[in-house]
Amino acid sequence: MKHAIQITIKGLVQGVGFRPFIFNLASSLNLSGYVLNTTTGVFIEVEGDRVNINKFTEHVRTQPPPQSEIFEIQSKDINPAGYADFEIRESERPEERFVPISPELATCTECLSELFNPEDRRYRYPFINCTNCGPRFTIVKDIPYDRKFTTMSVFQMCEKCNAEYHYPADRRFHAQPNACHVCGPKLFLFDNKMKEFPATDVISETCRLLKEGQIIALKGLGGYHLACDALNKDAVSKLRARKFREYKPFAIMVKDINTARDICFIDEKEEQLLSGVKRPIVLLKKRPDAPVSEEVAPNQKYFGIMLPYTSLHHLLLAESGLILVMTSANTSSEPIVFKEKDAFDRLCNITDYYVIHNREIHIRTDDSVCRVELGKDVVLRRSRGYAPHPLLMKHPFAEQILACGAELKNTFCLARGRYAFLSHHIGDLENLETLSSFENGIEHFKRIFNIEPSLIACDLHPEYLSAKYAHSLINIRKAGVQHHHAHIVSCMADNGLEGDIIGVSFDGTGYGLDGKIWGGEFLVCNYNGFQRAAHFEYFQLNGGEKAIKEPWRIAASFLYKIYGDDMMNLDIDFVRSLDINKWQILQHMIAREINSPLTSSAGRVFDAVSALLGIRKEIYYEGQAAIELEMKADSSDNGRYEFDCKEHDGKTAIVLDPLIRGVVTDIVKGVAVNAISARFHNTIADIVSAMCLKIKKHAGINRVALSGGVFQNSLLMEKTSILLDENGFKVYTHHRVPTNDGGISLGQAVIANEIAKAGKV
Ligand code: ZN
Ligand code: ZN
Ligand code: FE
Repeated sequence: MKHAIQITIKGLVQGVGFRPFIFNLASSLNLSGYVLNTTTGVFIEVEGDRVNINKFTEHVRTQPPPQSEIFEIQSKDINPAGYADFEIRESERPEERFVPISPELATCTECLSELFNPEDRRYRYPFINCTNCGPRFTIVKDIPYDRKFTTMSVFQMCEKCNAEYHYPADRRFHAQPNACHVCGPKLFLFDNKMKEFPATDVISETCRLLKEGQIIALKGLGGYHLACDALNKDAVSKLRARKFREYKPFAIMVKDINTARDICFIDEKEEQLLSGVKRPIVLLKKRPDAPVSEEVAPNQKYFGIMLPYTSLHHLLLAESGLILVMTSANTSSEPIVFKEKDAFDRLCNITDYYVIHNREIHIRTDDSVCRVELGKDVVLRRSRGYAPHPLLMKHPFAEQILACGAELKNTFCLARGRYAFLSHHIGDLENLETLSSFENGIEHFKRIFNIEPSLIACDLHPEYLSAKYAHSLINIRKAGVQHHHAHIVSCMADNGLEGDIIGVSFDGTGYGLDGKIWGGEFLVCNYNGFQRAAHFEYFQLNGGEKAIKEPWRIAASFLYKIYGDDMMNLDIDFVRSLDINKWQILQHMIAREINSPLTSSAGRVFDAVSALLGIRKEIYYEGQAAIELEMKADSSDNGRYEFDCKEHDGKTAIVLDPLIRGVVTDIVKGVAVNAISARFHNTIADIVSAMCLKIKKHAGINRVALSGGVFQNSLLMEKTSILLDENGFKVYTHHRVPTNDGGISLGQAVIANEIAKAGKV
């Protein structure tokens, strides 16, 4: 007797080869019926032998296509309709539409073997792809995920491609970006005067130019890269000079894992991350004998390395034999360039040549950045390969919410049902170009995920462009969320936690409830609210923004607070090399408290110590002083410094004067900078542990969440986690969303949801 069932699947099931998988599975089990993409996922009807139907559902549950992710699966028995065979039906497209879209997928092994097979019709075709790999999110203009709603719609498939596309058992069945030499996108080479460069073979010509030391602006999946030979010191220096980027590390791309091993130490976990389908940049420890130019990542212990993720990358790397610098193409703080016009306008003074193609990028996405920390993958910049994959929450959001994120490393988050759609990395909201990328991104997400928010969450900082954007919207309820509360709740949501927690938010900045700049915070908190239990004692940020760019100011200000005029007698280089004129102006500022906002920022304490040790007195990119301080640390040193506590208004202020004195004493004694840096890190870990024990005593909470940009410092993160663990705490850190401000929007969405549920907005 024939049986029949209906199956509804929700999750990441479109654009990942799900329907061909279902078709092949049903056919192999002699089942008839149909499958179709719906606006909420995939809908299946199968009928046939009961045993085979059970096998079918079991297989779907346990062995779905590798790139898919099933969030929900429901099935029910129905009456057989008597289908003759199994077919794939046209997608529905009614109004209520809502389905996750796959992120970009690195070129799969089958496509790769075709790419390098001279017999294959796609031999050396730089846009090869199939249902298991290729562009997705960056080419989607609308949903459902069908070719006509992507930027591939302008390419008419040739007969052969068309046949593959329509043959259900083919790997390219409904592969929306399917293409070949005959019918698909093509490469073009231009010089920096916008003149097409005559090349019979763009790939080999580009390889030649790279070997010559030329800089190439290379159009990729989510935007342009600037590429050059990483072993050629002159080429790398030229790129730095033209980009006005003196120190910030460049990412590099290598052709395979073995080449990566020649320049970095790689463990099994790191290898998986590096060679996985998401293909992020992975931060890996440099080998001392690495052949790559020091210019690529000066003063760093790590290289940011990625493996090729498009066929174009594979061809360039395999045929040139080079290791390439691959850095996002942009000018200073602007977002990555992704349109030809901008590329020609903005990059012409940086690049020597352009390699472009005619497949339009609909939305820009940067490369993601990850590392392995204490055995787990940690994402530091969540973008290509990750976005727009949603985070699945334990409970549904009560309404549709837009959270606007912070200012630097901005992401936004749109929430609906149990899904939190965290955006790709938008960048620093400091200029019009980034702001419009932010606004367009929000509109795009609203459209493709069919979200019309009724509530908007933003940071309390009145000057953040993301907050100004939120306040500019009319007829929508608004919820302001404290920056560090958002950090901690983001970490909680990342780990699927609810209830009370001790939150340690160490950060550069964050607008406080008292109008001061918070950043060294211990909160007792949950989704509904927080209490500030302890924080670093306030200190002056003399010169405001200028103090962030010139950490010597903070160091000098600390010394003056502790030693008064006697500081000039300290036998340390820092004092000896003080510019007396500048110091007198600063002293004036300190005395009169001119342009000297108060802060409890942990990030600025790292900056001050870095300056005091002569590591970095002025910075060229965000976080540089703290990063270089971390890089100097000799992690085997177990020394530590003292610190004090002061009680006020039921809060604890952590006094750092003894720490600074300890550092100065060590410098005078001639202790190595590497040891002092380690001792400083040990002390900060001690402070966290001591404060958490203190809070635990009266709040009775045993769980600690660590968040904030300072915890990108993996030495601090590891030392702190281990120490807390030894003291009996359960420690939670970020994994799926960044610990820096890129994770803020998720926390905002969760908190805003609670504010609304409590009827406070
Ligand atoms: Zn493929
Ligand atoms: Zn074709
Ligand atoms: Fe922050």
